Order: sequence, then structure tokens, then C-alpha cells
Amino acid sequence: MEGVISTKPDRCRRCYGCIRECPAKAIRVVNGQALIMQDRCIVCGHCVKVCSQQAKGVKSTNTLEFLERIQQGTAVALVAPSFAASWPENYRKLPAALRKLGFSMVMETAFGADLISPLYAEEISNNPAETIISSSCPAVCHYIEKYYPKLVPNLAKIVSPMIAMGRYVKQVYGKEHIIVFFGPCIAKKVEGRDPQVEGVIDEVFTFAELKNILNENALNLDDLEDSNFDPPHANLGKVYPLAGGLLKTADISIDLMEKEILVVEGKSKVIELFEELKDNQINARFIDVLFCEGCISGPGIDSSLNHYSRREKVIEFVQDSINLVDKKVWKSNLYNSRDLQLEREFESRQVYSEYVSDEDLTTILASINKHTDRDRLNCGACGYLTCKEFAISVGKGLAERQMCLPFLIDELQNAYEDLRSTQEQLHSAEKLASIGQLAAGIAHEINNPLGTIMLYASLVKRQVERLEAAGGSGQDLQTIINEANRCKNIVANLLNFARQGKLSLLQFDLFDLLTQMIKKLKPHPAFAGVKVEMHHEANDTSLEADKDQLEQVFLNLLMNAAEAMEGRENRKITIVIEEQHESLVVKVTDTGCGIPKENAGKIFTPFFTTKKIGKGTGLGMAIAYGIIKMHKGDINFESQPEQGTTFFVRLPKVITLSESLIN
Ligand code: ADP
Ligand code: MG
Repeated sequence: MEGVISTKPDRCRRCYGCIRECPAKAIRVVNGQALIMQDRCIVCGHCVKVCSQQAKGVKSTNTLEFLERIQQGTAVALVAPSFAASWPENYRKLPAALRKLGFSMVMETAFGADLISPLYAEEISNNPAETIISSSCPAVCHYIEKYYPKLVPNLAKIVSPMIAMGRYVKQVYGKEHIIVFFGPCIAKKVEGRDPQVEGVIDEVFTFAELKNILNENALNLDDLEDSNFDPPHANLGKVYPLAGGLLKTADISIDLMEKEILVVEGKSKVIELFEELKDNQINARFIDVLFCEGCISGPGIDSSLNHYSRREKVIEFVQDSINLVDKKVWKSNLYNSRDLQLEREFESRQVYSEYVSDEDLTTILASINKHTDRDRLNCGACGYLTCKEFAISVGKGLAERQMCLPFLIDELQNAYEDLRSTQEQLHSAEKLASIGQLAAGIAHEINNPLGTIMLYASLVKRQVERLEAAGGSGQDLQTIINEANRCKNIVANLLNFARQGKLSLLQFDLFDLLTQMIKKLKPHPAFAGVKVEMHHEANDTSLEADKDQLEQVFLNLLMNAAEAMEGRENRKITIVIEEQHESLVVKVTDTGCGIPKENAGKIFTPFFTTKKIGKGTGLGMAIAYGIIKMHKGDINFESQPEQGTTFFVRLPKVITLSESLIN
């Protein structure tokens, strides 16, 4: 069920600040989202105040419908006395703004405080043996009803100033009036619906919500006139939102000894107080309790001022206006409302909590790596004060193990280790896969020449058997030799491929190596008529690498380039060496047939060849790729079909390899 406060989906960022702040342990974490448990929530609004992500939303009424409703009927706005802290610069203009919104009358809730104050004085003097707890703060009342039912009889059986004022308006001005309360408190939204007092207040808005409504209706307070509230004007009830305000209003402290009166405000002090009261440790006659540090610190106040400046603002308003109150009129207003029903009851709404056995607790603690007392850091990162408290909440299904930061860090570290070993396994699996691919290729490639060998061998056999010395057998034998040679080539290349595992590093000059290679290749038939040009644009062309293996790479590249240009005009190979950061880049450009787009992805695949049977094995580029990767370099190409191809080989000048890779 959606309550007054709820979590906005996906806004919650797992800081657990609300859990730390919630006095009622009413927040449960599900999939990382801190959700409110409505049956446990006391609507104090601390979670709303503390959430930096505005992930806690306060249920609000549809403003358009609401304004239509008040404009149609006669509506009265009741403004809580802390309003001066919410509009510090222009609070005197607020009554005018509310009238502009459509309210017929705008009154101070503080007169309600004046109405109930004598009842407090009376209740305290009538029950000298009881400890009476003030009941004006709805969060305090909810807290007692849900978590300290034993203290319910101690709550003063008196309505809050809001209800008192609502009843006053209904009695004096008529039941048909729509009564809307504006204040700093979210819990008032629930109080208005309490069966004990329902039917008095029609809507409750926080000051923060009122600011939004004014904005939506383009009502800027600065554009309005100062104006006063409608009567009845309040007297000392105006100081209600300050610490000890109730006592001052009821003029109580004068009659009683200090020790018998306590003013307790602020969440942690309130919790401490109730724990003591529950165990009969306190004998005070009257305790004024507020869940916030005075209503001026309420969650709905929306003010950038600090606590003390807010207090000053409220005092400024009191001083400004209290002398204007005609005491005679005020007294007669009070007298005229002497029959007003201002009493109410409270009841236990105790919330029961699941029990977590010691055995379960130990298991849970162990599951978050807390095996001994020393493992319990009580760091509070989860939002709970102690590891034990956290584990109990896990047991009750209110918290998730991942909320424990030290545990999460351990888990992350484990996950990282797992990932690393999986990556290593993948690496060898990849190698195995390419070996598998290779084996399948070998079977296919060697089967073809072997088939030819067998065919021609049986032909030769038959010919020999028929004793036909001449005709064709010499040719057939040559085919057998050719095919057997092809098998030899494939096997030689495979051996090279297999040897790739290790590098014999040597410092040498790459430019010199390529120069020598070109010299050696020149007489090769494939290079007949091929112009070869080479230059470098590097300061230094020396590097550390496996010279023999690199020679194999460049041999493959140069042979492929020459073969790609076979039978074409303007055959030219250009070799350029450039320096890039800590690497040397060799570009080998030819003016050959180019590589069609559809083959681009297959060039480095073992056994991919477009050459005639007997000419290509399709292993050259696969081997080159393997060698360059072993050197922590890159190899790729750009090609224009029918115009030519450039292969790029990048090699780091110095490589750092793990021991296992060095020969
Ligand atoms: P092979 O040379 O035995 O065919 P390679 O692995 O060396 O095997 O090359 C694979 C294929 O890549 C060649 O068959 C050819 O189609 C293509 N290729 C490689 N280099 C070039 C190039 N410079 N120009 C055009 N095609 C090329
Ligand atoms: Mg080749």
C-alpha cells in the first residue's frame, strides 16, 4: 500500500542514510532500493530530510483539482506559526498569497495552541502522580502508539493545535468550510485522517508543497502587499514551534519545580527518553516532546536558514505581531469557545517484529565474513549502528548482505580474481580453439594433395604393371612429386606456427633487416619487373624483437604483395617506416589486385587463400598475425580493389613480456 512517504523508483543510490536516520526501523532494502514499510513508518520525515537524491517522495494532492475545489466553496487556510522560518524575507505577504489562491480566510493555527494550553495546565494539576507526555507532535504520538504502547496512557488526551483550530472554525464559521492546513510537518497528513479526529481538516500541505503551488500559479510573494491574518489572532501560541513553546503558552513553568518538567526534542533524545520512561526511570510530571528540534526544523519547512536563524525569524514575527493582539478580544474569543470538544484518545497500534534466533544470527554473520568479534567492524556503512543489528535485519528480510561494505569489498576482490582466472582460461581456450581450427584445416588441406598422390600413384602402378614404359608416366610422377612438396610446405608452415609460442628477443635495426630482405628477394621470379622503394621517417629504426620471426612476417607480406601484382602493369612495392610514440610502424603498399570487401574479415584466418591449388597455403597471414600479437603489436590493412593494398605493422620498440613467453 502506498503511504504518505514512499521511495521513488531507481532514485535510491544505496547510501543507506535513511536507514541510519529512521527511528522506527521502517526501511527495508529490496534490490538495492530502500523502501518504506508503511505499517512501521511513523511519518516523522527524517528520511525525506536526509536523502540527498530526493528519492523519498511525499504523497501530495492534485493541485489543479484542489484549487478548483477551494475556489468553488468557502475555504479557510490554517497556517502553522513556523511559516516565518519558511519565508524569512517576505512572510508578511503569505496571507495575501493564500487569499489570491482562493482562500476566503487565512488564519493562524497558533490560536489553536492558545485554545489547548489551558487544558495542559489543567491535566497536569489534576494528575499529580502521572507523567504526562505532550501529544501535539503527531510523529511522537505515532511512535508511542506503535513502539511504546505502554506509554499510550501517558499521552495527554488533548487534540493538537491544528485540530483545535479546525474545530473552532467549523463551530464558529460553519461546518461547510473547507479547512486546509499548511505547516512544516509531514506527519500532520496522517493525523488529519486519524479516526479520533477525522472530519475536521480537509487537506494538509507542507510549506514546501505550498511553495510549489505558488510557483505553479505564478504567485510571487514579492509582488504582493503585506497583510495580516484573519481573526481570531493568536497570543503566545505563536511560540509553539520553538523548544519549550508549549510550556510558555500554558504558563506552566511558573507553578512547578524545574525538575518535574522536561523539554525533549530531536530524534535521538526522544528515543533515549522513551527507553528510560518504559523502565520507569523518570518521574517528571510533564514532558514536552517533539520529534524534530522544534517544528521549525520540520521536514516540510524548505528553508536554507539554519536552526538558529529560523528561530530568530519566528521570534521576530512573534515580537512584531503580539503587541497588536487585542487581549480583551483574544480572551473573549477563548471564552466563547469554552464548549469546544478538544479532547481525544490514543490507542496501541503495536508493531510486532519477527524473532531471529541466535543460531540464525551466527549463520548470517558468518555469511558476511564475520566469524569472530574482531571481524565485526561496526562501521555503520550499512545504515545500522552495529553488525549485529544489521544481521538481525538481514534475518528479518529487511536488509541485504550486499549492504555490508567490508563484505562487498571482499566479494569484489573475489569476483576480480575469478574474472582474472576465467580470462586466463579463455585465453588458453581461444588458443585451443585455433589449434582445433588448424587441425581441421590441416586434415582438409593435406587430404587434397594426398588424394591426388594416391590417384597418380595407382595410375603409375597400373602403368608399370602393364609394362608400358613410355607415355605420360613421367608426367604423372612429376604431379606426385609436386603434391608431396605441397604437403611438405604445409607441414613446414605448421611447424613455424607451432614455434610461435616463444620469442628470442634481440636488439636490431628494422630498416637494415628489410633492406637485406629485399636484396635477397630481388632474384625471385615473383619480383621480376617489380619496382621496390623503401625509406624511413624515424629518428631511430632499431627495436627489440625476435628477428627471425619478424623476417617471416615481412617475407609473407612481400611475397603476397608481389603475388597480388602478378600479370599487372606498374608493379611497385613501397615500404615506409615511421615512428609513432614508442612504436615503429611499417607500411607495405603494393599496386596489386586489392582485397575485395567480402574477404576482408578472412585474411588472417588459417588456410584462407584465393590462390591456385599448389600455390597458396593460406597460412602466411595467420602466422604473421600470431607473431605480431606476440610482440604486443598490431597488424591490419587498407585495400582498394584493383588498385592496391597497404599492410600496416606496428611494433613496440621495447616489449615487456612475461617470463613464459621469452625463449
Ligand atoms: P596465401 O598467400 O598462401 O594465400 P596468406 O595467408 O599469405 O595465404 O594470404 C591469404 C590471402 O590474403 C591471400 O590468398 C590473398 O587472397 C589475400 N592477400 C594477402 N595479401 C594480399 C595483398 N597484398 N593483396 C591482395 N590480397 C592479399
Ligand atoms: Mg602468403
